[in-house]
Amino acid sequence: MSTKLGELNQTKVVEALNANSIGKSIRLCGWVRTRRDSKAGFSFLEINDGSTLKNVQVLAEAKLPNYESEILKIGIGSSVEIEGTVVASPGKEQATEIKADSVKVFGYADPLTYPLQKKGTSMEFLRTIAHLRPRTNTFGAVARVRNEICKSIHNFFQSRGFIYVHAPIITGSDCEGAGQMFKVTTFDLLDVPRKEDKSIDFEQDFFGRPTNLTVSGQLEAEIYATALTNVYTFGPTFRAENSNTSRHLSEFWMIEPEMAFCNLEGNMSVAEEFLKTIFNDVLTNCGTDMQFFNERIDKTVIETLKGIVESDFVRLSYTEAVDVLLKCGETFEFPVSWGIDLQSEHERYLTEKKFKKPVIVCDYPKDIKAFYMRLNDDNKTVRAMDVLVPKVGEIIGGSQREERLDVLEQRMKDAGLDTEEYWWYLDLRRFGTVPHAGFGLGLERTVQFATGMSNIRDVIPFPRAPKSADF
Ligand code: ATP
Ligand code: MN
Repeated sequence: MSTKLGELNQTKVVEALNANSIGKSIRLCGWVRTRRDSKAGFSFLEINDGSTLKNVQVLAEAKLPNYESEILKIGIGSSVEIEGTVVASPGKEQATEIKADSVKVFGYADPLTYPLQKKGTSMEFLRTIAHLRPRTNTFGAVARVRNEICKSIHNFFQSRGFIYVHAPIITGSDCEGAGQMFKVTTFDLLDVPRKEDKSIDFEQDFFGRPTNLTVSGQLEAEIYATALTNVYTFGPTFRAENSNTSRHLSEFWMIEPEMAFCNLEGNMSVAEEFLKTIFNDVLTNCGTDMQFFNERIDKTVIETLKGIVESDFVRLSYTEAVDVLLKCGETFEFPVSWGIDLQSEHERYLTEKKFKKPVIVCDYPKDIKAFYMRLNDDNKTVRAMDVLVPKVGEIIGGSQREERLDVLEQRMKDAGLDTEEYWWYLDLRRFGTVPHAGFGLGLERTVQFATGMSNIRDVIPFPRAPKSADF
């Protein structure tokens, strides 16, 4: 085995494919996608290492000492190290190929049992082999686009002076007062300590109190925004809702900027610029992968992303949106009336059919939104906003926060929340309160939208959904 493993002088496939590499001696490691043998006394190996969608072609001549004994046993999935020279390729498909001086095999993959033999395996089947699906073109491309989106997100905020804040994953507060949460406990489920009145004795639990996995880092982000002005969180969040849809996960990543001295209009502008920057970065930096998604997954995805980068998002109030829906003549499964929570079919009508671009709906009825959203003067609506995009529907949810102590306390009481529990949240309004606003972007919905992948379970490495957490 090579003694050079781990050295940084290893060449990546993406570099070997570049015509600038012609003439260079290189060492390259990866997994074989195909082997083709020629009677003329050589074989071609196609190698992929995840650095790009494309494979590099390696020419292995029969005169190599291990040609018969090893190279002719290499199949799809085998791992190899190639040493050789990058040469101009006579083939039309690629500019370069590698002429091998040596081919070493790290490990073979038995063609009879390797699950990725066949092309065109279904997404459902690939979910059952989440440990191997990153080796397919589709999942490699998803991983690279997801990575680009994360980079773009950090760049966007870092270049604007936002501070990255880490919200806790285990939380003592039920953030939204509504969302269903996963409990965190070390209790033996067969023998849960009880108090005299038979209620659970959480004082004996690990944290001495009930705790849950967070559904959002927003409240913690508010704490930091009311000290550092502009902050963002970026971490995993958990929802124990039984939503078996192609747009919901039980564990997903959320990006939550929070801005002090900012109102809803400022919040909308940041959200719009943010989404445009992300999609523009994907188009600019993931050309090969996006070409693939456009050919194989969704023929409109590049056009859709370009449209978003160039469009001005539509802004309209919930009341106006309801009006549009009532007058549009469509029949919806869920009938529309002022006060209902907009369903996915309504959101999609607005963004796909009516406006054909992203739509920001704001000023929702207070009864369908969280307690912390700022109450409007009409006493009926709150300064909430949802950003809706075609196919995915809601991609961002946000609001201007209620900064008036008395109004917030009243809203919490109306929502049946214990104001004592939120003493620290109320303190932010007691001491130097400021107007502030923020939103949450779902990372997976963003990746889903950017790639055109139809199911959200295929844009996160190891999806967690109801009855599904196998890997
Ligand atoms: P929805 O109505 O679509 O269930 P929500 O209103 O519950 O979403 P928010 O609490 O506003 O969602 O969360 C902010 C963002 O996080 C959403 O706009 C969406 O992009 C993402 N998101 C929310 N729930 C999920 C989920 N279960 N799986 C993946 N992403 C989610
Ligand atoms: Mn929402």
